[in-house]
Amino acid sequence: MRLNSKAFETEEIMDKQQYIDRAEQVLYKVYNRFPVVFDHGKGVCLYDTDGNEYLDFGAGIAVMGLGYGCPELNEIMKRQAEKLCHTSNLFYNVPAIEAGEKLLKVSGMEKVFFTNSGTEAVEGLLKIAKRYAFNKGMGPDYEIIAMKHSFHGRTLGALSVTGNDHYQEPFAPLVPGIRFADFNDLDSVKAVWSEKTCAVIMETIQGEGGIYPATEEFLQGVRALCDKQDALLLLDEIQCGMGRSGHMFAWQGYHIKPDAMSVAKALGNGVPVGAFLAQGKAASAIVPGDHGTTYGGNPFVCAVASGVLDIFEKRNLVEHVREVGDYLWKKLDEIGDRYDCVKAHRGRGLMQGLEFTAPAGQVVSNALTEQRLVVISAGSNIIRFVPPLVIGPEDVDEMGKRLGAAIEAVFG
Ligand SMILES: *Cc1c(COP(=O)(O)O)cnc(C)c1O
Repeated sequence: MRLNSKAFETEEIMDKQQYIDRAEQVLYKVYNRFPVVFDHGKGVCLYDTDGNEYLDFGAGIAVMGLGYGCPELNEIMKRQAEKLCHTSNLFYNVPAIEAGEKLLKVSGMEKVFFTNSGTEAVEGLLKIAKRYAFNKGMGPDYEIIAMKHSFHGRTLGALSVTGNDHYQEPFAPLVPGIRFADFNDLDSVKAVWSEKTCAVIMETIQGEGGIYPATEEFLQGVRALCDKQDALLLLDEIQCGMGRSGHMFAWQGYHIKPDAMSVAKALGNGVPVGAFLAQGKAASAIVPGDHGTTYGGNPFVCAVASGVLDIFEKRNLVEHVREVGDYLWKKLDEIGDRYDCVKAHRGRGLMQGLEFTAPAGQVVSNALTEQRLVVISAGSNIIRFVPPLVIGPEDVDEMGKRLGAAIEAVFG
């Protein structure tokens, strides 16, 4: 049954394949998409144009923390859409003040800059690092240490610190002065450190690279190294932040604090908004004229971000993530024990991954088209579980059944 009755009146309902053909005619071909056309969502479920219901453990790549069609957030969006959407940053607006205050409160940072995407938040971190080095009179050849198998975004600066040759190679030369170290290997960071090093950037939990949490020893070691050498620690919390790890920000589970950090994905629950935040010397590195954006931090997206942060607090969502994350952990452990094709299980909170002994793309594909379960891969052999943060144990049980069936269909 098709739930969106309005579509009956205004638009001819097309065959799925017709939509796909039209899409391929007009949209730039940068993705190999799955043959599913989603129409609407509710809670932790998505519905395609044929009315099929899918259980969603991908959340639009860790974006839809509050799930689909959150009534309180919809109300906020409607109200702000009617009131004021955009003013430019030449003027002040109240939602940006409120969203900023709330973000600083939960992060313990001192300053925030709102962006339109994750990659732009990373650009901000890199500009802070460069500006900080410049202010110190380090000269133009300062270096930034980034991690292999990292992902920080697709714009040229963020791409420069993304440790993936496949993504980088066609666009070289990129930003100079980036040295790559092995994640969770402090000696490898020391090996590329020089007197020119002005910052280290990493994800607290590597997402696209395959769900690898930083070890406590590594993150604390890098923090100490940065302190000793007067370099900045920049943490990318775009995927692992906003409660997903079982802490509001994943670094809060490591007894350290970064100098600056990025956030995006779940901040707007589907409305494009990100931010970079900084404290101390990193917060004062940037001066008027150094950075800007036309859309960034407009009243519409900030009202949404502000609402998202309120709902997190009201529902005690971080605590919920810990509980249901433990439940997911047990479920995925069970699955790992049951099937020989599962090699490893990693993650924190509601950001977990199963590593398979062989490419897992077919499991992802079978889960979607046969089991109506959305999961996403991270690298070729890893399936990532990043559901809406509002899932309950019953959703985990259901996911387990469908995933088991998909694994059996593919690996036999
Ligand atoms: C998704 C992601 C980005 C890029 O965010 P966009 O909004 O796609 O630009 C950067 N860093 C991490 C860790 C991410 O997961």
